[in-house]
Amino acid sequence: MSDDATEIGVDTAVYKTLLESTKAIPWKIDWATLRFAYIGPQIERLLGWSQSSWVGIDDWVERMHPEDRSWVVDFCVAQSKAGVDHEADYRALTAEGNYVWIRDVVHVVRNDKGEVEALVGFMFDISERKKNEEKLLRLQRELEELSYQDGLTGVANRRLLDSVLEVEWASAQRSGQPLSFIMLDIDFFKQYNDRYGHLAGDDCLRRVTQILDSASLRPRDVLGRFGGEEFALVLPETDREAALLVAERSRALINDAAISHQASETAHHITVSMGVATASPAEGGNPAWLVEKADQLLYLAKQNGRDQIVAD
Ligand code: GH3
Ligand code: MG
Ligand code: MG
Repeated sequence: MSDDATEIGVDTAVYKTLLESTKAIPWKIDWATLRFAYIGPQIERLLGWSQSSWVGIDDWVERMHPEDRSWVVDFCVAQSKAGVDHEADYRALTAEGNYVWIRDVVHVVRNDKGEVEALVGFMFDISERKKNEEKLLRLQRELEELSYQDGLTGVANRRLLDSVLEVEWASAQRSGQPLSFIMLDIDFFKQYNDRYGHLAGDDCLRRVTQILDSASLRPRDVLGRFGGEEFALVLPETDREAALLVAERSRALINDAAISHQASETAHHITVSMGVATASPAEGGNPAWLVEKADQLLYLAKQNGRDQIVAD
């Protein structure tokens, strides 16, 4: 059996190997001197600055985007003084003069007396996630522009639906999460127009939109008008069962609204049919294929008698 010292020695080596083989970059700052006691060698691969160039806290401050510097430093110093663990996202300067988005997660180490002794933490490269977040934010802003909004109902139009699907598909590919897509079509809508007139038909489309919009969707879900009397729902991070629940809730809400449709062959009110498709983008495929699948399932729902939901 090995003695204690050897065991500690082995453990230290194991910890060091583990720490230095992760993507996250470990570091430690001595609070009394504000100097780096340690920083993982991975830092050089990420930012280009050598491990030995990280001497004091000033090296960290200076290698930060000027716009992020003051709030990040103020925030981290205040939290550290208060002995509170914290995290901050900021842009770190690379040796080549570019910036990389970093999430710094900080743990405050205190001594027996409760005094702050050191800060230890991990830096994570979050540039990919930031890029995706920024892209989604841009898309959301664009929704406010007419070119992405359906003129009649005010929800996303086909063009925006396509863009959202593309971004969410890429995001799901990275995260490994499922992505669901619901295609919804009003039953016997031609007869509705014939019976009540085109303007009443427009009103009906607006009412159906409001009802779908009120189905308490999650913030990242997107409702859009696919075309004519067809609507679509993009549901990120949603598996088949959860998507089915959304579909059933939407269908029930539309039935409950009982929008009179005496010329319908399914009921005396407006009913809808839906195709619910779910994909695992990380396993392959593409957004067009997901839409196609939902469309085929919707066709089945129509064939089976309408006023129903078909999932894959
Ligand atoms: P199904 O149950 O198979 O879906 O039958 P349907 O009558 O709903 O389907 P069909 O595709 O035959 O007809 C769709 C109708 O939707 C025809 C078109 O006049 C109407 N429509 C499409 N866009 C609009 C619109 O913007 N306003 C109005 N009022 N009607 C529209
Ligand atoms: Mg249709
Ligand atoms: Mg229809």
